Amino acid sequence: MARVTFFGLGKMGAPMAHNLAKAGHQLTVYDPFPEVCEAFRQQGAAVAPSPLAAVEEAEFVISMLPEGRHVVALYAGDEAQAGIIPQLREEALVIDCSTIDVGSVNTVFEAARQRGVAMIDAPVSGGVSAAQAGTLTFMCGGPEPHVARAKPVLAGMGKNLLRAGDSGAGQVAKMCNNMLLAIHMAGTAEALNLGINNGLDAKALSEIMRQSSGGNWSLEKYNPAPGVMANAPASHDFQPGFTVELMLKDLGLAMTNSLTTKSAVPLGALARNLYACHSRQQRDNDKLDFSSIWQMYC
Ligand code: NAD
Repeated sequence: MARVTFFGLGKMGAPMAHNLAKAGHQLTVYDPFPEVCEAFRQQGAAVAPSPLAAVEEAEFVISMLPEGRHVVALYAGDEAQAGIIPQLREEALVIDCSTIDVGSVNTVFEAARQRGVAMIDAPVSGGVSAAQAGTLTFMCGGPEPHVARAKPVLAGMGKNLLRAGDSGAGQVAKMCNNMLLAIHMAGTAEALNLGINNGLDAKALSEIMRQSSGGNWSLEKYNPAPGVMANAPASHDFQPGFTVELMLKDLGLAMTNSLTTKSAVPLGALARNLYACHSRQQRDNDKLDFSSIWQMYC
């Protein structure tokens, strides 16, 4: 079992870190909010007083932070704080699981490389329920041997580990996946609504499309029409799940990246605009599950 330091005990990070402790790893945690650390202290984890102190003995450093600027500040530092990279042991492996832009990954990767420390990006698919169940999918970017080294630790938090390519490739895979998810969720809502407006039953139409060429993950596993699937957020007032706010964040990453890479993303841009309209339509829509894009059609 390994000495693991975990940064960011939020909605995703807290259950991930709990699963690491359950798997028997020696856990040190740090989060700027002392109250979220308290539960870990009570369960026997070490709570570090500062980011620098947190990594002194770490073999693996894992972060699950909101945005690229938080990740860059933690590792490489900013005007407010010193980065932790100079403090890392040379044999440490950095695993950033946050969903962030590729530019920020490159900044941290380069700072780590100059210090002789290995880093991979490993954003996740699966959301809070998969983080709790330990069934996340990790989309990894980095050299093969580093991804292989991360495997036993990531196995404590997820069931799939897929290598997308070199550094930053995990973030690219996540960005492409979530842009496609937004597109087929909106498309599924649109098709189901058209059918309902023609007098069809949403359940019957879903089954027909599921067995036909319109079949897709949103339709089959996460149906946006209320009442079709008992377990889907649509049947529970669109309680998340994966929020509209986070989908908008991921679509924003895709749009920014498409400008840099001069990629045409007309459907992604349309999906992003639909989600932006939905988010602005009512104040609390941001906190609803992303399948609530359904409401844009009704
Ligand atoms: P969150 O806001 O609930 O948690 C973030 C945590 O990071 C907070 O506890 C905050 O105090 C902490 N933090 C900020 N700066 C820190 C620092 N320098 N050191 C240590 N801790 C610090 O966010 P979340 O929902 O857990 O999401 C985290 C990441 O996971 C994001 O990048 C998000 O896009 C991604 N993600 C979220 C979901 C989801 O369903 N919530 C699903 C997939 C991916």
